[in-house]
Amino acid sequence: MKKIAVLTSGGDAPGMNAAFRAVVRKSIYEGIEVYGVYQGYQGLVNDNIKKLELGDVGDIIQRGGTKLYSARCPEFIEPDVRQEGIDNLKKRGIDSLVVIGGDGSYRGAQRLNEEGIKTIGVPGTIDNDINGTDFTIGFDTALNTVVDAVDRIRDTATSHERTFIIEVMGRDAGDLALWAGVAGGAETILIPEASSDIKSVAERIETGMNRGKKHSIIIVAEGVMSASECGGELRKYINVDTRESVLGHMQRGGKPTGNDRVLASRLGAYAVELLLEGVSGHAVGIENNSLSKTSFDKVFEEHHKIDEGLFRLSKELSI
Ligand code: ADP
Repeated sequence: MKKIAVLTSGGDAPGMNAAFRAVVRKSIYEGIEVYGVYQGYQGLVNDNIKKLELGDVGDIIQRGGTKLYSARCPEFIEPDVRQEGIDNLKKRGIDSLVVIGGDGSYRGAQRLNEEGIKTIGVPGTIDNDINGTDFTIGFDTALNTVVDAVDRIRDTATSHERTFIIEVMGRDAGDLALWAGVAGGAETILIPEASSDIKSVAERIETGMNRGKKHSIIIVAEGVMSASECGGELRKYINVDTRESVLGHMQRGGKPTGNDRVLASRLGAYAVELLLEGVSGHAVGIENNSLSKTSFDKVFEEHHKIDEGLFRLSKELSI
């Protein structure tokens, strides 16, 4: 391996900076030149690439967002467009790339690997929806942000004896809603991976109201329906006064938790280690608290699944 480049792509996540820092510092520690590609695949194509030194990643481990910027680049599915990016790397003698992002970004990484750039993926997304890792970078921070919001909303729900519906991020993935629901003591958790029977949710709220329970918290992942749709659906069955909160992009920002920083540091450095060993076409992850690698092919084999045991538990504890 001669020179490594690193980019962040897709939706940003807290801890991406810590992963970026780890890639840069580990590379320099190993005596390898390292380059930052700014604005994801868009920057790769536009030749927005800069050689980095130790100081370039100073004072960023604690910062949310990504100092490398991120961008969506739909045209990257075109082989000709990718070739422009590959040429930009090759003209600098860069033969290896670390891509920090979600599964969309991994698709681009897989293509680049097939086309001659040795590529490793690092899971950076708040969704926790990538196979080959128990946790993605950013999930723990987003989880704690949502739990904090749920706690605050619960104060009002209790004081005003109301049902609150809290909409959290997760178009196809329910991990954030599920974990936040368990941690926040939600009465109901609606996730895309499970069918949502609003009638039975309404019946449970009614039963609770009849035995004197005057407030409840429903957490709905955005991929299931919006909070206001959920309120409307409930009122088809019961006479309940709901309040809706859409947490939105606040879930993506903020300084990374200690766990996310450690995870990002471990995974970023491991990506460089694998490239040094001659491994590419893989994504790094953490499984049973050990570093692991999974080929992109395997990562894409099936849709990411939720923890069924945790989902069952959430129901058992919210009776
Ligand atoms: P995430 O990585 O967070 O899942 P996206 O799905 O938006 O985010 O993907 C990020 C970028 O990855 C896209 O804007 C595009 O540049 C690239 N990408 C996604 N799918 C492919 C694909 N099939 N082939 C090549 N590049 C892709």
